[in-house]
Amino acid sequence: MTGKFGALLARRTAWGRSDAISRILAAANAPGVLSMAGGIPAPDSFPVARLAAAAEQVLSRSATAALQYAPAEGITAMREAVAVRAGETGAAVSPERVIVTSGSQQGLDLLARTLIEEGDQVALDDPSYLGAVQVFRRAGARLLPLPTDRDGMRVDVLEHRLAVGARPKLVYVVPHFHNPTGGVLSEERRRLLAGLAERYGFLVVEDDPYGDLAFCGGRLPSTDVHSDRVIRLMSLSKTLCPGLRVAGLTAPDGLIGELVATKQSSDLQTNTFGQYVLAELFADPSFLPAHLARLRVLYGDKARATAGLLRERLPWLTFDEPRGGLFFWCTVDDPLVTSEPLYERALAEGVAIVPGAPFCIGEDGSRLLRLSFATLDEEQRREGVARLATAFEKARAD
Ligand code: PMP
Repeated sequence: MTGKFGALLARRTAWGRSDAISRILAAANAPGVLSMAGGIPAPDSFPVARLAAAAEQVLSRSATAALQYAPAEGITAMREAVAVRAGETGAAVSPERVIVTSGSQQGLDLLARTLIEEGDQVALDDPSYLGAVQVFRRAGARLLPLPTDRDGMRVDVLEHRLAVGARPKLVYVVPHFHNPTGGVLSEERRRLLAGLAERYGFLVVEDDPYGDLAFCGGRLPSTDVHSDRVIRLMSLSKTLCPGLRVAGLTAPDGLIGELVATKQSSDLQTNTFGQYVLAELFADPSFLPAHLARLRVLYGDKARATAGLLRERLPWLTFDEPRGGLFFWCTVDDPLVTSEPLYERALAEGVAIVPGAPFCIGEDGSRLLRLSFATLDEEQRREGVARLATAFEKARAD
């Protein structure tokens, strides 16, 4: 450990440190750069008028409660709303099994701090969501990376690893439109995973920010319909807005108390006002279905338009067309170009992408890259793809 305060730092601050994504996202925000990098929702996806009306209602009717401290596990109305949504998309859950967290990212952190001791094993897809990799590494976990494909984690490989002695405490999956691969964990693999959880005694963590953004087909029921060893993280960041930092976590009875105690020691509670505002929105049963229907059209149109452009202008890029979510996960199909130099070249041309390597644990990510189609409008999309085509020609000539 170096620097003036190096000797004071806890050992774990060196674990799971990665500046790669913050560096890439900072570059993507530079003036004049068109960003296909961040996993952020489209600005026109936010239900601004409805949020304003809900905030107004909350302040006129319940200001003293909404501006006050609230219970660590969340306000009752929000826990009830999460329980209803959980039941619509998986097994029935009582509101007592819900914690309202400051984003799903905090849910991951609470799980790591409550369950993981140094050296414990956590199994996950390779590549995986970097935010989860960092949380688990920082808690001292040993990662067990597993191959993944269009149908999600290769649960058969997990089964084999378990049979030869692997003993993960947690198995982390992104069940729909995985970040970054776009895979959807198949029904058959969900069943198998649940069966293995029962047999070997691990917990499944289902982190599902994208499940409601299916624009081709629907979503599959949560793995918790097959086992009660499942913890669900239900982010609202991609479907409502990330700025309020309100998400739901559902967990089995025997874990809720411990998770709430960790939550309390972390930040006392999730933003009370944000919980009141969202609970007000959810109180109208027609709001969410109509809002999600609009998002599916918005993102489906953007994804199809981007796929068309990529095929036309970037034939050296191969990808499976996404069925939902926010990303294209692509392979650079040219022996002369890898994704890191392409990323540098693209930035110099004024378009930001994310090279695949930071998401990869053991896999070779050197020809992979992630493109987000969410935030650019039609003209920006054309220009962004044109800049990427120029960057490729330059990278090829280097
Ligand atoms: N999990 C995954 C798979 C994500 O992609 C993200 C956001 N990029 C998160 C969790 C974090 O979500 P939240 O904003 O709810 O903390």
